[in-house]
Amino acid sequence: MIEYRTDWEIPEISHSNQIQVKSRLSGICTSDLHQIDVNLPYSATILAKKINPIPMEHEVVGEITQIGEDVESLEIGDRVVHSPVAYCEAYGFEPCPSCQHGHHESCYAIVEVGDGSNLEESYGGRGRFGGFSGGGFSEYFVGFAKQFTNVPDSLPDELAVLSEPFAVGLHAAAKNPPDTNDTAVVIGAGIIGLMIVAAVRHIAPDCRIITLARYPFQAEAAKRLGSHEVIMEATRDETYGLVAELTEGTLLKPRLGQRILYGNTGPDIIYDSIGTGATLDDALHLVRSNGRIIAVGMAFSEMKKPDWAIQIYKEISVIGSMMHGVETMDGEEVESMEKVLEILNANQSMFEGLVTHKYAIDDYKSAFQTSSHKGKTGAIKVAFDFSQ
Ligand SMILES: [Zn+2]
Ligand SMILES: [Zn+2]
Repeated sequence: MIEYRTDWEIPEISHSNQIQVKSRLSGICTSDLHQIDVNLPYSATILAKKINPIPMEHEVVGEITQIGEDVESLEIGDRVVHSPVAYCEAYGFEPCPSCQHGHHESCYAIVEVGDGSNLEESYGGRGRFGGFSGGGFSEYFVGFAKQFTNVPDSLPDELAVLSEPFAVGLHAAAKNPPDTNDTAVVIGAGIIGLMIVAAVRHIAPDCRIITLARYPFQAEAAKRLGSHEVIMEATRDETYGLVAELTEGTLLKPRLGQRILYGNTGPDIIYDSIGTGATLDDALHLVRSNGRIIAVGMAFSEMKKPDWAIQIYKEISVIGSMMHGVETMDGEEVESMEKVLEILNANQSMFEGLVTHKYAIDDYKSAFQTSSHKGKTGAIKVAFDFSQ
């Protein structure tokens, strides 16, 4: 359930490692829409906050208005982007087993598994900050200094606000890069699909990218960000035929059901930016034998039943990808948010125009409507503009 509140008190920092931020531009993520619709599988509730009510949002550019005394890396007035990954070190906890292995995206704090320590209690629980309830749909919010990264002066808010979804794409591609001569297929050309295209293009400049898109404005954006070919949504059989044709794949027709691409030609790696049962089933049908499927999108609705037998017949690796944290790129460890800001800043024209709509926060109904009906509105990223 969501409620628009005008009586929400401005949150103050309570710890010396925190900062208070005034929101400038906050992107609406599809996961926000799923939360509004309460369209979630049971498993997603492990990510839900126990505190209620709590302000939503996890993609925001803002300006620092208060700063804890132990924060050295940031200053009042700095323009920053926010990461929803509030991990042990951000809080000041001893690293949990995930953090010890550098996997901030699966930190125990995100699912509120704690130790009942006084420090934990002083925050009001281990999972109080970050996650899908970062607070950027409010004028002011509080987070840990380690969740924020300085935005280069030359990078406008409209591009900086793409940092978080771009970090999701970068994490998927950096952890599971295509090989140089691979053909990668990206299923879906919403913002996550587009950010995967941009990340794959950056990480594997010579690999071929084919994107499956629904709308012409998405196809145009996918090409601008580095997709060589775009296949527009058609019937499943037509789409499968086109993918096979472009990748010299062999399609077999089982006695019942959809054709299956089989053997060692065809897409080498498929990134699924949507994450429904249907798109995962498509990926299983379309990837070549011994290929990889990277499941990035979280449609959040209950999964239908993909035909998992195909995974066995074709020895497919199916790998999940969740949020972001620290990536290994060119043999070096880099913070995802720092890396995406660097790429955005160096390639600004590629990313221009992806924020298609901006609304004042009190016009939230129009904003969510616009974001929910992309075909009609041409929306890619819809954002709340707090300067309005
Ligand atoms: Zn998101
Ligand atoms: Zn942790």
